[in-house]
Amino acid sequence: MARYNISLIRGDGIGPEQAAAAKKILETISDRSSTRFTINEVDAGDTALAKHGKALPESSVDTIRNSQACLKGPVGESAADVIIVLRRMFDLYANVRPAKSYPNIPSLSDKVDLVTVRENTEDVYLGWEFNADENTVVALRITSERASRRIAEYAFKLAILRDNKHKVVAVHKANVLRKGDGLFATTCKSVAKKYPKIDYSELYVDACSMNLIRNPEEFDVVVTTNLFGDILSDEAAQVVGGLGMGPAANIGDSFALFEPVHGAAFDIAGKNAANPSSILLSAKMMLEWLGNRHGDKNAIIEGKRIDDAIISALKNGNKTKDIGGKLSTAEFTELVAKTMY
Ligand code: ATP
Repeated sequence: MARYNISLIRGDGIGPEQAAAAKKILETISDRSSTRFTINEVDAGDTALAKHGKALPESSVDTIRNSQACLKGPVGESAADVIIVLRRMFDLYANVRPAKSYPNIPSLSDKVDLVTVRENTEDVYLGWEFNADENTVVALRITSERASRRIAEYAFKLAILRDNKHKVVAVHKANVLRKGDGLFATTCKSVAKKYPKIDYSELYVDACSMNLIRNPEEFDVVVTTNLFGDILSDEAAQVVGGLGMGPAANIGDSFALFEPVHGAAFDIAGKNAANPSSILLSAKMMLEWLGNRHGDKNAIIEGKRIDDAIISALKNGNKTKDIGGKLSTAEFTELVAKTMY
């Protein structure tokens, strides 16, 4: 029997409803299998700011630090003070966002199975913005060979593991950002030489955003810089039917944090209307990561049950409102829990 210590950030907007859904599914796994969880809920985000005067209180950081993985609901206005800080604190350098076609969801194509691997530590997200004068701002965009190399390595290893189309495309804008993206592109190209079995290509970000609409099924692994990855992964999520189905992982060498791709969706908060799939599929990614890290095949199997139960619900037309159904957050979660075992 394996027991994992998980920190769960409730977040803002639809975050608490999604966190409750994830908790229910993890508790179901704990009850029904040999994979067990100790779940410690923590505050972070706008609610934490109002309650404790800090978007990321020390006590939350301590709990996260003492856990083996973190699952996070979306955070509102203070997102930058939570997720960007955590990514830096734990050096979570790979932001991995799968976009996969699910049955019975209105989408551009029903054969998409791609993953965006976004560099998570550099680019404009360091927040180095300065006033050059009263009316002009300069924002620094950081690119290093080290960060480019490790994200490229991650992408190629993932392309091998996925056993899908064995393709990696590096996305950049090296024709304009000649130095920064030039460095990213040449680094990806040099890493590609180590992986001759992977079909390597490059695309400018504008062409990539067009091709994601035109031929989304052609993509396998997309490796890119931080800002481009932020935008392209939301686009890819929409291509397969919307943000409500989009999970994400922030992965480092010794810790990982899993969260939906979307924000706090305040327009539907508190209405039991959020699609929980994005956080449930994030939990599935967490189980996969824990399983691979601890040589625990059962954890991977339990994670797959979440995916299979969501697919089965969708096939039977049981869907939340955002994807054309009628079920509430709680009803959909209940159905997934029931279908899993
Ligand atoms: P941010 O800028 O933090 O990314 P945002 O408020 O601009 O956030 P999101 O919250 O990411 O945008 O989502 C945009 C819209 O998509 C929401 O307003 C909501 O209607 C819909 N949406 C997002 N996630 C979900 C979900 N899990 N279930 C249902 N609808 C969702």
